[in-house]
Amino acid sequence: MSSFKSSICSTRLAPSDHKHSNASPISMKEFQIVKPLSPPASVKVGSVASDDGSEVVDTRVGPIEDWEGGYKFAPIKEHHVARAMTKRYGDDLYRTAISDIVIVGCGSAGLSCAYQLAKERPDLKITILEAGVAPGGGAWLGGQLMSAMVVRKPADNFLRELEVPFEDEGDYVVVKHAALFTSTILSKVLKFPNVKLYNATAVEDLITVKDPLNGSNLRVAGVSCMDPQTITAPIVASFAGHDGPFGAFSVKRLAAMGMVKELGDMRGLNMRCAEDYIVNATREIVPGLITGGMELSELDGANRMGATFGGMLASGVKAAKEAIKLFDSYDIVEGEVVGLKQAA
Ligand SMILES: Cc1cc2nc3c(=O)[nH]c(=O)nc-3n(C[C@H](O)[C@H](O)[C@H](O)COP(=O)(O)OP(=O)(O)OC[C@H]3O[C@@H](n4cnc5c(N)ncnc54)[C@H](O)[C@@H]3O)c2cc1C
Repeated sequence: MSSFKSSICSTRLAPSDHKHSNASPISMKEFQIVKPLSPPASVKVGSVASDDGSEVVDTRVGPIEDWEGGYKFAPIKEHHVARAMTKRYGDDLYRTAISDIVIVGCGSAGLSCAYQLAKERPDLKITILEAGVAPGGGAWLGGQLMSAMVVRKPADNFLRELEVPFEDEGDYVVVKHAALFTSTILSKVLKFPNVKLYNATAVEDLITVKDPLNGSNLRVAGVSCMDPQTITAPIVASFAGHDGPFGAFSVKRLAAMGMVKELGDMRGLNMRCAEDYIVNATREIVPGLITGGMELSELDGANRMGATFGGMLASGVKAAKEAIKLFDSYDIVEGEVVGLKQAA
C-alpha cells in the first residue's frame, strides 16, 4: 500500500473568505490543504501522484480487467484524448458544412424524421442540431411526471419498426416509459453512419437566398449555428417544438423576416382532431424549409394534442417523406439548389 502516497488534496476556503466579495483576488496561502483518506485495503495496486507531484508507477501494463482490486486501464497521454476528440469534431464540422438535410430540434418529431430519412436513404448526409445538452426534447416523460407514453394507432407501426415494446389498449398503445421510446430511437439514429448529431448547439439563424426556382421568392438554404459555423443544405426540416425561450425557432424567425405572415398560435387542447391535422399538414412552409411537430401548430394555429405522441412520430415520418421527394426533384450543386432535375 506504500504506493498510495497521494497528494490528491481537496482545497477549501476558510468560511470568512466568502464574506468579502469585493476583496482582492484570493491568494493560494488562504487555501487549506486537506489530506485524503487512505485507500481501502481491497485496492491492491495502482498509480497516483505522490506528495511532491512525481508519479508512483504501477509497472503492470493495462488493459487488465481484474475486479479484485487490480483493475488497470490501457496507457494514455492527455494529448491522445484531446486529439481523439478534436480531430473528429473538426472533421465532422468540415464534412457537414454541406449537408443534404439539416434537422433542427431533436425531440420526438425530429428524431422520427431522422430515423425515417436515415433508414430510407443511406445516401443522404443528415445533420441534426439540438440546442439542449440532452437530445429527446419533451419525450423523456409521457406528460408532466407520468412515465407512460400513449401512442394512437396507426403510429404503433412505427413503434414496431423500432422494436419498442408496448401494451395494446385497442385504439391506442402504451409504452411503459417514454424514455424507452426516446432512448431506443436515439440509439438507432446515432448508429446510422449517415447521421451526425450536434447537441448543445442552437440554430441561431436561417440562411436565406434568392430562390433559383422562383426569383421573386426567398429560399432557406441552410442554418447558422455556433457563429461562424454554418451548414448549407437544400432542405432544412424544423421541429423546434412549441413556443418558449427556444421553441418554435424557425417559424418565429421566418415571421420576423416576413417570409411567413404571422404565427397562428397554438389553440386549445383537442386530441380528437389535433394529431391528424399535424401529420397531414406537415409540409414545406417556405421554399427549402419543412416543419412539423409542435412547431407547426404554432404556425398554423392548430390545436394542442396534449400527452399523446403518435402525431409527433408520424409528423416526423411524413416530413422525411416530403424531404426525400423534394431532394430528388432538385438539381443541387455544393448543397445549393440550382434548378429542377430534368426528366430523363
Ligand atoms: C424540455 C421539454 C420538456 C417538456 N416537458 C413536457 C411535459 O412534461 N409534459 C408535456 O405534456 N409536454 C412537455 N413538453 C412538450 C411536449 O413534449 C411536446 O409537446 C412534444 O414533445 C413536441 O415534440 P416536438 O418534437 O415537436 O418538440 P420538443 O419535444 O419540444 O422538441 C423540440 C426540440 O427542439 C430543440 N430546439 C428548439 N429550438 C432550437 C434551436 N434554435 N436550435 C436547435 N434546437 C432547438 C429543443 O431543445 C427541443 O429538444 C416538453 C418539451 C420540452 C422541450
